[in-house]
Amino acid sequence: MPFNQPYGVRSFYAPGHDQGPKAVPAIVGRGPSSFAAYAAAGGFRALQRLQNGETTPVAVLKQILASGLRGCGGSHLPLVKKWEAAIPHKPRYLVVNGMEGEPDTFKDYLLLRDYPQIVLEGIALACRVLHIREACLVLNSAYGECRAALQAVLNENAALFDGLDIQLVDGPEVDLYVAGEESALLNYLEGQRAEPRLKPPFPHEQGLWGKPTIINNVETLSWLPLLLVRPELFAGRHPKLVTLLGDVAEPGIYEITLGEPLPEILQRARADDLSFVEIGGISGGLIPATLTNVDYDDEALAPLGVQVGSGTLRVFNTSRDPLAEMAAAIAFFKTESCGRCTPCRVGTQELAKFAAALRDTPLSNTDLNWVHSVAHTLQQTSTCGLGRAAPAPLLTWLHHFGKKPHD
Ligand code: SF4
Repeated sequence: MPFNQPYGVRSFYAPGHDQGPKAVPAIVGRGPSSFAAYAAAGGFRALQRLQNGETTPVAVLKQILASGLRGCGGSHLPLVKKWEAAIPHKPRYLVVNGMEGEPDTFKDYLLLRDYPQIVLEGIALACRVLHIREACLVLNSAYGECRAALQAVLNENAALFDGLDIQLVDGPEVDLYVAGEESALLNYLEGQRAEPRLKPPFPHEQGLWGKPTIINNVETLSWLPLLLVRPELFAGRHPKLVTLLGDVAEPGIYEITLGEPLPEILQRARADDLSFVEIGGISGGLIPATLTNVDYDDEALAPLGVQVGSGTLRVFNTSRDPLAEMAAAIAFFKTESCGRCTPCRVGTQELAKFAAALRDTPLSNTDLNWVHSVAHTLQQTSTCGLGRAAPAPLLTWLHHFGKKPHD
């Protein structure tokens, strides 16, 4: 399978973009208990049952689709939607997105580093039930240390992966945010610029090398072995890994249940001096501590203008300035825009200028109307999620922290 052609497009990106490998903090390891328990019991049980004929691909597929499992990369769309759309096209490839480009997000890293067997079992299960023979797992360039352990699992359990071609592919050397977008990943694998494709056609119709392709996130597939062996984990609930860091005493990757009260989640990491929280990663938004008494799921968070997203919760204490954090987030999107779509290229620059000037400039109704118009254009006309998400930090700041307009 001709993955990972030479990649030579760094000059396409803005000067200063090359920030080196993603900084991986030493926080990971406050172990998600379900994964630890499954690994401790030996793992591979779900895949072995399938191999031994104790169950069938059809039965396993039904169980997965009925579980309610959602995509854990940020979309939170039910997995059933993606797979059911793809199955009639007879998917040829499975691409597993291990780019995890969202800043301060490390849940996939924890899985790849500590539970490579479960990650690969999930990939193999998906391949078996979807009748896909060729898969590739694309790893963030900063996660190179995980590669040897993943390869060892493949080598040492060759019989379980028999008939499957699972390749481990290094992502772009530069830590590109937009390269984690699913169609950009396909371009990267084909040796083109890692920029998003226009849709339609969608990857499940014409994906890698023009063939129907399913793209799933590392965490999403890692839940498959667990939900098959311990279906009670998904009985009327949805477990999720969150990256919980910032001004907390015990940062880490925590296993929570969607719908849990947010204050209880924050207190697991001991957020003792809480001023505000960034919910959903840098493409999420900021809410003040006074509004955190809410359940942690998309339905309850939506009225606050935020969503679960990448599952990252960044906590800020009373010494932090929400305006500075918001301006930094907007500047990030300006830098990360690949520049192909005019609304995103120009809009992120304009929003960044506006955010940087907010501290010194009184806010007028004219300003507010302008910001909302730019944000609306970005959300409606951007090709990919970066442009659509870019206004969120500014919009939530204006809503929850902004000064009142003066005319
Ligand atoms: S929305 Fe922005 S990041 Fe996405 S393709 Fe367009 S210019 Fe590139």
